[in-house]
Amino acid sequence: MEEITANKEMKINAVDKFLDDLDRYGKSDVKCPFCGTPLKYYEYANGMSYEIRCQTPNCLRSCCRGI
Ligand SMILES: [Zn+2]
Repeated sequence: MEEITANKEMKINAVDKFLDDLDRYGKSDVKCPFCGTPLKYYEYANGMSYEIRCQTPNCLRSCCRGI
């Protein structure tokens, strides 16, 4: 159970940092804390929501709704 919580925290921290960098610099080189590949930002066509994903299937994935 502790491991899951720690992973969740690592994920939240990485995504937070990624979005922060993106906001400030327009880009980010934050890497996935689990597999080490760079995180990528995907915006959906309607512009209403976006997703942050690493490039490994079934690894880090964070879905967010735009404002
Ligand atoms: Zn990953």
